[in-house]
Amino acid sequence: MSNAQNTTVAVIGLGSMGLGMAQTLATAGFKTLGFDLSEQRKQMAKDSNVTPLDSIAQAFEASDFLVFSLPTAKDVAGVVNDHISILEDRSGKKVIIVDTSTSEPDVTRELAAKLEELGHGFLDAPVSGGPSGAATGKLTMMIGGAEEDVAASRPVIEAMSAKALHVGPSGAGNVAKLVNNLLAAAHMVTTGEGLKLALAAGIEPEAALRVINAASGRSMISEVHFPTWIVSDRFDSGFSMGLMRKDVRLAKALADQKGADLPLAETVARLWAGSTELKDTDDFTRMGAYLPSK
Ligand code: NAD
Repeated sequence: MSNAQNTTVAVIGLGSMGLGMAQTLATAGFKTLGFDLSEQRKQMAKDSNVTPLDSIAQAFEASDFLVFSLPTAKDVAGVVNDHISILEDRSGKKVIIVDTSTSEPDVTRELAAKLEELGHGFLDAPVSGGPSGAATGKLTMMIGGAEEDVAASRPVIEAMSAKALHVGPSGAGNVAKLVNNLLAAAHMVTTGEGLKLALAAGIEPEAALRVINAASGRSMISEVHFPTWIVSDRFDSGFSMGLMRKDVRLAKALADQKGADLPLAETVARLWAGSTELKDTDDFTRMGAYLPSK
């Protein structure tokens, strides 16, 4: 039996990202368990060789690794704090939580310290690459935490990611992810504005986009998101307005907390929070076509 077959991984949160991660881990040979609050998501996991669980407690009792893919830091802290007594009883065997949620560095550091005290590990390991990256094991992962926990988690991390970068100590992965998503949110706005200017000056947006993507104004947002989800009118990238608003809000809060003066980020944060015609459940790519007139 390979190491993967001897390793039990439970994925908590089987949403747009977590379901694909669970499927990828199962395909890589891990004994993969899954839990979500939604019965429908658990059924979808079951259809992909992931064993659905009745409770999160079962995941904490049975797993070598727990992979989290939860909406917010509050959800992450809630799940850990409600089940940490199970890990107290499992002090003979080190359990590592690999938290892929886009979470908050202060919350992460607090949880990592609690887990370390009990002889267990907690890595902040947020990801980029969307649902397709999750489903194909091609995510980019940015990791904060202890070197030995990163080394011990390598097989799980490598199954889920094409690139895994250990950024620094606990919380560093969260910081890198918030910086990355602040830039993605800004690119969504600046690219939309560039195409608005092109149209106002008599050039078709599609033609301007082809130029930008062959020149220095390009980004992943202009190269992938605009053609795939915005110009095509599909708006189904699988990442919600609500989650991107959360990321922009957290990046702005981090800048305020650290006293970093970021004038463009202030405007980006105001635009994402102020686009009230767009619902939290809308796809975040709607923002590229949302052109406020004032
Ligand atoms: P999602 O809303 O599709 O999925 C979240 C899932 O978590 C839902 O199925 C929900 O039922 C479940 N859940 C919530 N609370 C739970 C709990 N206490 N126990 C078990 N399950 C619970 O969100 P998503 O798009 O998959 O994103 C998950 C995380 O990954 C977020 O932090 C997000 O910011 C981040 N992220 C998303 C993307 C993307 O493209 N969608 C990309 C990178 C990072």
